[in-house]
Amino acid sequence: MSKMDAVEPTHLSLNSKFKFRCHKGIKCFTRCCSDINILLTPYDVIRLKNRLGLSSDEFLLRYTVMDIDKQTSHPYASLKMNDDPEKKCPFVTPEGCTVYTDRPANCRYYPIGQGTLKKADKDGKPFDEEFYFFVKEPHCYGYHEKKEWTIASWREDQGVDLYDKMNRDWKALQLRRNLLGQAELDPKKQTQFYMASYNMDAFRKFIFESRFLDVFDIDKETVEKIKNDEVELMLFGVRYIKYVMMLDQTLQVKEEVLKSREKK
Ligand code: SF4
Ligand code: SF4
Repeated sequence: MSKMDAVEPTHLSLNSKFKFRCHKGIKCFTRCCSDINILLTPYDVIRLKNRLGLSSDEFLLRYTVMDIDKQTSHPYASLKMNDDPEKKCPFVTPEGCTVYTDRPANCRYYPIGQGTLKKADKDGKPFDEEFYFFVKEPHCYGYHEKKEWTIASWREDQGVDLYDKMNRDWKALQLRRNLLGQAELDPKKQTQFYMASYNMDAFRKFIFESRFLDVFDIDKETVEKIKNDEVELMLFGVRYIKYVMMLDQTLQVKEEVLKSREKK
């Protein structure tokens, strides 16, 4: 949720220390909540729409803008800023954030940024290494305060761990660069990607009111879970997106469907 020129290039670890405090009495209070890009994750949308008592459609329409990442061709949602001169976040008031306990992951991290490095172990097996960096914007006076943190204690204080756990697989998919020669997602696949990421009401309908369960072999336990728990549905969405993107055989077409296709 920051301008890139405010990013400090140092790669930090969980033990890295810093001083920071954000509180209502600080002269920059809520200044960071205007004119910012806040990419939303699927878990952010679930928490916010439930907080506001809205359907997925209503929330997406009222509070988000959809964009396509030019490098990956993947669609993503961002929080829509107000149409006023300051471009304020729709949830900010002079008293602070009105959705504080359900605020998005990016707001929780701020003023820390998080990135991922592609690495390989001694056997050449690739893995992702997470690192952190400071975001220091001139309007933010929090770094002049005396309260000490490590990145780990900041994460804990801000409730970041749960959000990271919920978003990890989806973020890895979202950030995945296309391999050489790999086709971009076409508009139909982009629509499916977006729906399975953000619109749990439409995704639930798609699964339970189309021929989806006639075509795909999904075990009963999973069907029960995704029917009754939208976080489970969201996690299943990642499986579906991988299938749509043809990355993994995360879903199996039923034997009888395959046989009937062969006959045609
Ligand atoms: S959601 Fe809350 S913390 Fe995040 S920008 Fe809006 S008002 Fe600020
Ligand atoms: S200290 Fe920084 S994070 Fe806190 S309100 Fe001020 S600008 Fe925002």
